Amino acid sequence: MESVTLYRAPTTVTDADAIADWLDARIEATVSVRDRFLSLHGDPALAETFAKARVLSPYDRETGNTMLGIVRYEERALESPERAGGVIYDGLAIQRALHERIPESERSLDHLHVPLLDRVVGTWGDHDGRWHKRVNVLGQPAIVSVPGLYEAPAKPEQYYKEQQKHALLSGGAPPREVLENEVEGEFLVEDDPRTTDALKGYVLQACHYLDTGEPFCDEETCRLHNPHRQPGVVAAQLREPEFCPKHAERYRP
Ligand SMILES: [Zn+2]
Repeated sequence: MESVTLYRAPTTVTDADAIADWLDARIEATVSVRDRFLSLHGDPALAETFAKARVLSPYDRETGNTMLGIVRYEERALESPERAGGVIYDGLAIQRALHERIPESERSLDHLHVPLLDRVVGTWGDHDGRWHKRVNVLGQPAIVSVPGLYEAPAKPEQYYKEQQKHALLSGGAPPREVLENEVEGEFLVEDDPRTTDALKGYVLQACHYLDTGEPFCDEETCRLHNPHRQPGVVAAQLREPEFCPKHAERYRP
């Protein structure tokens, strides 16, 4: 791999340039940053792809709804991303569509593209017959979902209980401070100030996969680890050491 291009997610708190600097100190490849992928390449056909890639039910493999209203909604969401919320998209379908929009001269695996996405993406689990939200979808391009960081790894059990309790009592979601004070265990919430730092490892995973063919590391303290729960994300991405001994050797700054 000779170069890596990150794409910004301006409606999120993520600082793509800070991630690029961090990456640049750890890998040989040249790292660059461009503006939001969906703004650079968001043609009308892409809106239709997003409409078709909508997950309709967590237990239904079939996706998609190309009714005119939905396509119009997706067109607007490409232009003004703050509108797109609450929908999961088939990550592999989105990945294929974005691949077609990478300039032809830049599609080879020498040049990895990593759009930081302002959408939630998932992949279908053949083993359990349901969709799973993902923080990243590895490959070319490698999708890194900012809301996926908050939603894909499960929060502590108690978080969901508090949420239900508040819904019953007041009909609404509990304020963030309540959740943070009353729920034990660490987790990231929407617009978390630790977002940029936590996503560094997920971007590196994309580079690591392209270079070595290995998706993730089993060591729980390593930034290449892919935990299923939020406390695991905090341990892998935000605590010392940065890497397991093997990967510290490879990615020493
Ligand atoms: Zn490791």
